Amino acid sequence: MNKDQANHARDRELGMHRAITRRDFLNGIAVGGGAMLASAWLPGLAHAAEVARFAQDVPGYDPPARTGMRGSHPGSFEVAHALRDGTFWQTAGRPIDTRETYDLIVVGAGMSGLAAAYFYRKQAGPSARILIIDNHDDFGGHAKRNEFRPGGRLLLANGGTVAIESPFPYSREARGLLTELGIDPPALEKKCVDREVYRGLGGSYFFDKETFGVDRLVTGLPGGLYGAPSASSSNAWPEFLAKTPFSADAQRDIARIQEENVDYMPGVPQDEKKSRLAHMSYKDFLLNVAKAHPDVIPFYQTRTHGLYGIGIDAVPALDCWAINFPGFQGLALDRVPSKGLSFTALGEVTPQERYHFHFPDGNASIARMLVRSLIPGSIPGSTAEDIVAASVDYSRLDRNGSPIRMRLSSTAVGVRHVGDAASAKEVEVIYGRDKKAYTVRSKGVVLACWNMVIPYLCEELPATQKEALHYGVKVPLVYTVVSIKNWTSFHKLGIRGASCPGMYHSSVNLDQPVNIGDYKCSHSPEEPILVRMLRTPCQPGLPARDQQRAGHYELLATPFETFERNIRDQLDRVLGPGGFDPARDIDAITVNRWPHGYAYEYNPLWDPDWPAGQRPCDIARQRHGRITIANSDAAAAAYTDQAIDQGYRAVQELLLSN
Ligand SMILES: Cc1cc2nc3c(=O)[nH]c(=O)nc-3n(C[C@H](O)[C@H](O)[C@H](O)COP(=O)(O)OP(=O)(O)OC[C@H]3O[C@@H](n4cnc5c(N)ncnc54)[C@H](O)[C@@H]3O)c2cc1C
Repeated sequence: MNKDQANHARDRELGMHRAITRRDFLNGIAVGGGAMLASAWLPGLAHAAEVARFAQDVPGYDPPARTGMRGSHPGSFEVAHALRDGTFWQTAGRPIDTRETYDLIVVGAGMSGLAAAYFYRKQAGPSARILIIDNHDDFGGHAKRNEFRPGGRLLLANGGTVAIESPFPYSREARGLLTELGIDPPALEKKCVDREVYRGLGGSYFFDKETFGVDRLVTGLPGGLYGAPSASSSNAWPEFLAKTPFSADAQRDIARIQEENVDYMPGVPQDEKKSRLAHMSYKDFLLNVAKAHPDVIPFYQTRTHGLYGIGIDAVPALDCWAINFPGFQGLALDRVPSKGLSFTALGEVTPQERYHFHFPDGNASIARMLVRSLIPGSIPGSTAEDIVAASVDYSRLDRNGSPIRMRLSSTAVGVRHVGDAASAKEVEVIYGRDKKAYTVRSKGVVLACWNMVIPYLCEELPATQKEALHYGVKVPLVYTVVSIKNWTSFHKLGIRGASCPGMYHSSVNLDQPVNIGDYKCSHSPEEPILVRMLRTPCQPGLPARDQQRAGHYELLATPFETFERNIRDQLDRVLGPGGFDPARDIDAITVNRWPHGYAYEYNPLWDPDWPAGQRPCDIARQRHGRITIANSDAAAAAYTDQAIDQGYRAVQELLLSN
């Protein structure tokens, strides 16, 4: 058999030929288009499609139900990239004047933009006229919802933002917003999280032959799902490691790092230890301070992927100490806030009450509750429990006569004062939609989009501010969700997930079990379930921001088919011994691709120690006339509460300046 024949045979085994839900239709096609497209995927709605101007106005428009390539989906980013590359205006034609005027235009329908609209209306009153525009076919920004309906049953996943959780307590404004919406995270956590469903299933590692010389799933990971340092003096780690393909030297060193209390910096004062750890990566710590065998590195390399979107070569060792990675037990470091920790890690050592909840669709539920409040009639219900199974009537989002309107698949391409910024009474916003450009005007604009986009939109900003806006490079990552017919393979293997440090996706996990309102999670292994897989396209060895830039390009250049083949191959190899058959058991795949994911956070490995108020994000978020800047980049912190806080600040700046 030649190579091509072998590839074909493998594709057949994996089920690459099998039609999965809407895969072919949505792969690579711009889904943000207008009426023609809407009628194509909604047979029978031709009349509605003909009369409606845009896809979102057609009854039945339901982006969360789309599978295939989501996140930065085809159709969402092309206009912005053309603007960046200087080609947009070559084909855009003369903008059409909508003659619409508003009190506020918000660019970006993510958590920050939705919160900004909410705070503005609260202060300016219910008659305030607000337009929110976003380049995606759905609202929520990173807080997106994925829906699946295996056998007619609703299963939900977060396409991005996972949960209400943050390194620091939610501010008065952010917590107040959640309370006003009716969200009480600790109460929901207590009531809705099902802690019994996966009882008896543990963590595991899958070692792949390309990285470790052999395909092998090793179960019984000590220290929980992520192999945290174990407090017990049992033989758990040596026993686990004996089943792995690691050499005797590497096994010995991993066991030492996990279990032994060694002070690798004897005699060094506490502050000096922390300072040194803040300026070296965890990889350097393992190799050069703990003197681990180099074969140990692949075991830990991807462990920071979920939280940082990058490997241990680019995360400071001090951060890894704060987030409870092993190897520091003997250093006797006080768990107190310390200089040199990133925002995320600082929160880990700051004592605080627990304020956490994962809706089945993540923080998309918060976005949906905000939209329900902003645009009455768009979503039925009134509680945090009934929002989960409720459907959005997208055709109500942008209606004439509604004080607050939301326009999807619309990319802002120009934001400028009508006259001089210091004295102008209005700002004009130009946006691209369905290959045309439109203008709208307002008394003020909140740019709740991404920092790096703003200099292209708002040419009149000072050069120093533009430079600061360009500093951070958002962190790319992929949340893949696979709908499978049952989870008997997980059950048989005794696992609820596997770390796969050498594979395309670095982890595979069963979805978090939550029952809320009418929504019920999968309870028995025979029922369908969603599997979560994480990929971070980083390039170990490069400086962090270069890794992130390389990751953007990789994600945008990778077709869905490549993701699908890797997903099927990985699930086959990890779960195959438990009876999983990708050709038979996969119902649908959604790849939530986020080339511009987490906001860039600063740390001493890659960033200077700026004086207070002089960080790039501080300079970047300055008000410019009637234009203010929100979004999580403005806080240099990738969290929902930070996005809300920035929305609040941006609105206060605007209202105070009027
Ligand atoms: C995969 C992932 C998981 C996360 N998990 C968590 C978590 O568990 N908990 C937590 O607290 N935080 C989490 N975060 C971070 C959190 O999601 C963000 O901090 C927050 O949602 C950001 O909101 P935002 O409104 O600032 O930005 P975004 O959500 O990015 O919204 C900005 C919107 O503006 C749009 N936009 C950009 N340019 C334009 C333009 N020119 N015209 C029109 N629209 C434009 C963008 O496309 C986007 O839709 C996660 C982030 C990611 C990516």
